[in-house]
Amino acid sequence: MQCHRAWPFTDQNCRSFVIHSSSLSVWHQFRAIDCLSQREGRIRTCPSATFRLELRALKQTEILAVGAGPAGLTAGIYAARSGHKAILLEKSFAGGQMALTSEVENYPGFSEPVNGMQLAQTMEQQATRFGCEMLNGEATGITSSAGGFEVATTAGPVTAAAVVVCSGVKPKLLGAPGETELTGRGVSYCAVCDGPLFKGREVAVIGGGDSALDEAIYLSNIASRVHVIHRRDEFRACKFAQQRLRERDNIVYHLSCVVDSFNGSKRLENLTVRNLKDNSTSVLPVAGAFVYVGWQPNTGWCSNLVALDDSGNVKTDDRLRTSVPGIFAAGDVRNTHLRQVATAVGDGALAAMSAHDFLIGKR
Ligand SMILES: Cc1cc2nc3c(=O)[nH]c(=O)nc-3n(C[C@H](O)[C@H](O)[C@H](O)COP(=O)(O)OP(=O)(O)OC[C@H]3O[C@@H](n4cnc5c(N)ncnc54)[C@H](O)[C@@H]3O)c2cc1C
Repeated sequence: MQCHRAWPFTDQNCRSFVIHSSSLSVWHQFRAIDCLSQREGRIRTCPSATFRLELRALKQTEILAVGAGPAGLTAGIYAARSGHKAILLEKSFAGGQMALTSEVENYPGFSEPVNGMQLAQTMEQQATRFGCEMLNGEATGITSSAGGFEVATTAGPVTAAAVVVCSGVKPKLLGAPGETELTGRGVSYCAVCDGPLFKGREVAVIGGGDSALDEAIYLSNIASRVHVIHRRDEFRACKFAQQRLRERDNIVYHLSCVVDSFNGSKRLENLTVRNLKDNSTSVLPVAGAFVYVGWQPNTGWCSNLVALDDSGNVKTDDRLRTSVPGIFAAGDVRNTHLRQVATAVGDGALAAMSAHDFLIGKR
């Protein structure tokens, strides 16, 4: 449209715009932005500039859940099924970490292991069936506003009377030299995503918890050999996972060992591994290294408002209320002792119902 015709659309419900103007010169792009920024008084026109304007209206909802992992998907189901207008905001794809694992075998209701991505799709369908709106975008900030909160997102601002923080966790880096430089070039944090790239080759898994062992088992079906490197002399993972790992004949254990460096010029070529007992070092010729050494909560967007514990987890009470009335938290992002699909789902249900009670109390 002609830029001067955009003016009638710029009412107070439309706070952000995307100008699709690839055919415009840079000068005209700036002029178009200039025109749209003249919200008071006369709008300046640049008659020759034609562009496609995508209005990003201020969205309003009763309950906004941020993050569509199992916690957020369940919060969406419970919020919408309770009759609330509910939006579920997700920056990448529904399912969160659950969608990154090929086999979930401890989530009740499935006698055989279920694929995490399939489980996520079913949960998403269930949430949308009750009327929960899926919104693709990343939350970048939150402020209190009249009647609730305004969440800044890459899909435009969303106001909500109640917010459920379900933004989960992201992998912790090991911090060894070469790790960052070689991420995506042999160093990975997701076996399901990148494992198939290493078919018939040697790989390493670093870590000793459930995620590390589950992924080592998955990789043992693809790689020729899987080196499991763990800094302690025994695993933290459950006995069942340890038993399953022992049944594989292509696993090599490096206990009481740490990775000193990830080496390679263009791609990962090998790892320098140090034995903590005798300080000896060895070089493992692996093409892929999968790091599972812990998680850090995704709270950057809300840490200005809600109280966090020393590890950066959102603090909650037994009803999953945060330090701010009207904001709740569910799943891995909060201070919890068990980070699993079953606990995230339980949290999502409780947090949504606590949000429901909060909204009822306000009426
Ligand atoms: C490799 C692996 C294997 C696992 N295997 C099992 C298993 O077998 N059984 C089991 O029970 N558990 C397993 N888990 C753990 C389980 O997946 C997690 O506990 C569960 O997914 C946590 O759910 P959540 O909804 O709290 O968070 P997440 O799953 O982390 O989801 C959070 C979501 O929020 C989104 N997000 C983050 N920040 C923003 C933002 N600012 N704006 C918008 N969206 C945002 C993310 O993209 C993500 O989709 C495994 C985890 C991993 C990594």
